[in-house]
Amino acid sequence: MSLLVIRKVDKLIKKFNTNCPFKIAKSLGIQIMYEDLGSTLGYYNQSFRVKIIHINQKASSNHKKFICAHELGHAICHPRANTPFLRKHTLFSTDKMESEANLFAIRLLFEKDYFDGQLSIDDAVEQYGIPEKFILNNLKGE
Ligand SMILES: [Zn+2]
Repeated sequence: MSLLVIRKVDKLIKKFNTNCPFKIAKSLGIQIMYEDLGSTLGYYNQSFRVKIIHINQKASSNHKKFICAHELGHAICHPRANTPFLRKHTLFSTDKMESEANLFAIRLLFEKDYFDGQLSIDDAVEQYGIPEKFILNNLKGE
């Protein structure tokens, strides 16, 4: 299952020649909205065939990038996922869809740098503010 996610990411990067989640979302016609979501970092939903990524406007810009990549993972891997459920999710949920979206985000953002050994876990933690344990847990599933 995780191999499938990785293949999807690699295809997207190749197709759009970027690993920027904002650019890929735009190219796919997915809308991005910045909202005050309280303690929720972001969520994805589809309404009347319009795919929307919601990002907490209070997150830092690097964190927004990670949230966007995570929610893009839902848009690609779980396009019809149940909204009320996803509304409550956090990045740190152990749910299967959540781990797939996180793997998607990590593969997308760190594709070249991380997987070629150019970016250490320390760099990733610093750049995106992601707890180290969280990255390790998600990479283990590969
Ligand atoms: Zn999620």
